[in-house]
Amino acid sequence: MTYDKGPHDLGAGSFAWLVPEGHWGESNTGLVRGDGESLLVDTLYDLDHTQEMLDGYAPLTVDHPIRTLVNTHSDGDHWFGNQLVAGEGVEIIASDAAAASMTQHNVDEMIALPHRHDHVGDFIRPIAANFDLSGIVPTPPTHTFSGHLDLDIGGREVRLIEVGPAHTDGDVLIHVPEAGVVYTGDIVFIGGAPLVWTGPISACIAAIDQILALEPTVVVPGHGPLTDSKGVRRVRDYLEHVATEATVRFRAGLTVEEAIDSIDMSAFADLSEQGRIAANVLNVYEELDPERPRADRGEQFSRIAAWELGVTA
Ligand SMILES: [Zn+2]
Repeated sequence: MTYDKGPHDLGAGSFAWLVPEGHWGESNTGLVRGDGESLLVDTLYDLDHTQEMLDGYAPLTVDHPIRTLVNTHSDGDHWFGNQLVAGEGVEIIASDAAAASMTQHNVDEMIALPHRHDHVGDFIRPIAANFDLSGIVPTPPTHTFSGHLDLDIGGREVRLIEVGPAHTDGDVLIHVPEAGVVYTGDIVFIGGAPLVWTGPISACIAAIDQILALEPTVVVPGHGPLTDSKGVRRVRDYLEHVATEATVRFRAGLTVEEAIDSIDMSAFADLSEQGRIAANVLNVYEELDPERPRADRGEQFSRIAAWELGVTA
């Protein structure tokens, strides 16, 4: 899939900065420009990528400085660059639930991953080589909310809609009604497989339905190229397929590993990051069996890495 970084003009003061190819850590941001001020949706995984993005937007923000930054969720590739935007007169906004995970611990965990002497280390090293996590000073929100928050950005209406827990604990959609634009964070991946960390998967499907109900003209996914309702529906199809097939296998008494191995994913074979199926099926099993101990992020990621490398977790 070939597409450019940007900035892409989406109309009515809305823009997107994309990071091809949308793989692990390669996330997108948005800019909503009002009269005399702008709102930024997300920063990037490291300081270099974030600075490049801010420089790309600079001609747009020179007379409309960024006064508001919204982090869609707490994964590092959406907020580790916050320090380059923070400062006097800048409000950083996230959901209460997302803010709880935006910590030094979160940064330290990601820095440690490539140093592991196991399949997780083997899997992450080539990805980590694309980023430089040095110098990151965790810069959390200055304002948090739950549910809905409506903003006026220099006369432009911007609506924040909390849809988590779904992909993570506190996912937020950003809707710009005048532009017909929705910035989805990682509720939507285009070109790569969806990923259900927190779940349940039904909540991710419900979040997708909320996006579709907004009848957007342009959808800016958390990763991958720009899309529309059709692209969003395909993400829904993947999630429905996995939920249905995993449920059948759970009821038939298959182990989670047997389920992962036997679900026919050929309709989605074009997607990268196929190994996410390991976390997604596990999530369905956990929802159906409340007695099952919940896997933490480390175990989920370990299972994805094992699937991708063809080894046993
Ligand atoms: Zn992401």
